[in-house]
Amino acid sequence: MQEKGNLSINSENFMPIIKKWLYTDKDIFIRELVSNACDAVTKLQKLSMMGEADIPAEEAYKIHVVLDQDKKTLQIIDNGIGMTADEIKKYINQIAFSGATDFLSKFEGKTEDEGSEIIGHFGLGFYSAFMVADTVEIDSLSYQKGAEPAKWRCNGGIDYEMEAGERTERGTTITLFIGADGEEFLNEATLYAAMRKYCAFMPVPIFVDVLKEETEEEKASAKKAENTVHVSPEEAAKLTTEGAMDLLQEQQDAAEEAKAEEPKPLNDTNPLWQRKPSECTDEDYKAFYHQVFNDLNDPLFWIHLNMDYPFRLKGILYFPKLVEQMDMMDGEVKLYCNQVYIADNVKEVVPEFLLLLKGILDCPDMPLNVSRSALQNDGYVEKMNAYITKKVADKLNQLFKTDRSAFEGFWDDINIFIKYGCMKEEKLYDKVKDILLLKTTDGVYETVAEYLEKNKEKHENVIYFATDTNQQAQYIRLFKEQGLEAAIMDTPVDKPFVSFLEYKNQDIKLKVQRVDADIDSLQEKEDAEISEAKKQADEFEANQMQELFRAAVANEKLHVKLEALKAEKVSAMILLSEESRRMMEMMEAYANNEEFKAMFANMKPDETLVLNKNNKLVKALLSMAGKEEKKEDAALLCHQLYDLALMSHRPLTSEEMTAFIDRSNLLLEKLTAFEA
Ligand code: ADP
Repeated sequence: MQEKGNLSINSENFMPIIKKWLYTDKDIFIRELVSNACDAVTKLQKLSMMGEADIPAEEAYKIHVVLDQDKKTLQIIDNGIGMTADEIKKYINQIAFSGATDFLSKFEGKTEDEGSEIIGHFGLGFYSAFMVADTVEIDSLSYQKGAEPAKWRCNGGIDYEMEAGERTERGTTITLFIGADGEEFLNEATLYAAMRKYCAFMPVPIFVDVLKEETEEEKASAKKAENTVHVSPEEAAKLTTEGAMDLLQEQQDAAEEAKAEEPKPLNDTNPLWQRKPSECTDEDYKAFYHQVFNDLNDPLFWIHLNMDYPFRLKGILYFPKLVEQMDMMDGEVKLYCNQVYIADNVKEVVPEFLLLLKGILDCPDMPLNVSRSALQNDGYVEKMNAYITKKVADKLNQLFKTDRSAFEGFWDDINIFIKYGCMKEEKLYDKVKDILLLKTTDGVYETVAEYLEKNKEKHENVIYFATDTNQQAQYIRLFKEQGLEAAIMDTPVDKPFVSFLEYKNQDIKLKVQRVDADIDSLQEKEDAEISEAKKQADEFEANQMQELFRAAVANEKLHVKLEALKAEKVSAMILLSEESRRMMEMMEAYANNEEFKAMFANMKPDETLVLNKNNKLVKALLSMAGKEEKKEDAALLCHQLYDLALMSHRPLTSEEMTAFIDRSNLLLEKLTAFEA
């Protein structure tokens, strides 16, 4: 009854190529074989529901993955639909192989990178077993009445054998005789890791059994169990010796243990994202989040995606709590196809801004057997993006409208995501532009419109911002004393976001400027009645100061202004026009680009030092100016004031810092000179 044949392949290199192309993620054979087993069960369930298969209602469908370390075999056993010999010939020898030839024709002559482009190499299915096995056996008994078990065996070449099978119960056993290429999967931990990765949410209960030699300890405990004398509670009650009580306790413990050891499937067959949102509680969502993303913190909130028409998409997106700002940069979006894990963070499928979140997307209609670049051009991905973007925007708007204080509470954690999302996805910006918040130096959260309206009188269509509240504390203090407020924009996405906001609000000529930009608001309004003589005197003083400072800090281009600022304690501050600052930042960002450096080589930042006439030190400096005997001290004071202003503006370079420290010491020495 044995039958032999060959797989009628045009390429003799079939197996070697499979091994080569799929080398990068070998563990996918687990996904392919276990998901085949799940499909076999689901197909049978469907037939049974339609009355086409006679299966008892209480049938326990399940899959066993059995690792035998001694025999070096791995078996995937299901009690699904099974296959007759003819079906094996049709599905395994012919059809499955046509999938493989497709695969080959796509990848012959391409580089390895292009090969691994295919998301998970879907479509190769069953033959992925040969990535780890030298020989593969199928032993199957079909659900059909009167079916005979059939066995198929292939040793990784192009020849197969078929004969009568051994299965007495319906279903299929796939046996992999693990070869040198798959040895790692004989390791229990490696197997479990792959199983958890791909099978954690498959729809049929899966059990993993590892057969190995019993250890001495296990043998001993088995023996002890055998020798245990069973005593009923009634009998024990009659006995008064302590020994009997111990015996009873032991018995109870053993019963407890047995209960605890009742085998539990490895997977959750009805994961949260597949359930109706109305049936899930907050606790469910949180528990699922902790379990899947190993994050001890609770998520802030989440969005349950549940779409059946015009395409199917299910999933849950979580907005995580940030522990550190940079956390936001590594989100985790897991892609599933009908509860089968595909990959993490597939940027061709998942809208880029979503990659900052944590979540699961299950896309059963996604064409996964095409290359990633083809996927990007696929209408499906575009539709999905639009749908998810809308859902995210709806959720944010709803939160803002129904519970503004909660929304404000989340803002620090979610603003990076929203700003980044707005820049990446214009549709998102359009939908959330009215609820973008500015957290201000007054500690309140205002929408852009609210901020502009509130400050309309003082500075129309200008948003001032601070990037570092410590470093720019001087400026912020000045702002506050003038009754002004600045938005705190201190995250990595704020730099591009500032330009983005301006670009998006060209109609109102919105300007977004840092607090140390060259600004009018901080300077006291010129008194119209000021006398000509006073003006001249002021100009003289300003010129005098400019000369002093230029000489002291050796910068011929420095502008110096004298202003009466309300904050007496502030001696001086540096203003840098918004354009100059952005240019400087760009130069820093492209510091390694020679071409760029050459282009900007002759550009000097347009820096202004503002001296506060109301400050005691500046007053002293003014009286020292022009006095020959004070020249040296005046120069010292100038340099020190300049450095102090610089420090509030940007961090000092190491040379600047060294000079500052030396000078500070010198000043202290002068202060204490009389003691010596
Ligand atoms: P795919 O799963 O993409 O169809 P495969 O190569 O994985 O391709 O499998 C080919 C076919 O073999 C399946 O479509 C199915 O009909 C059959 N098959 C594979 N595994 C099993 C199984 N465990 N039980 C029943 N049929 C199976």
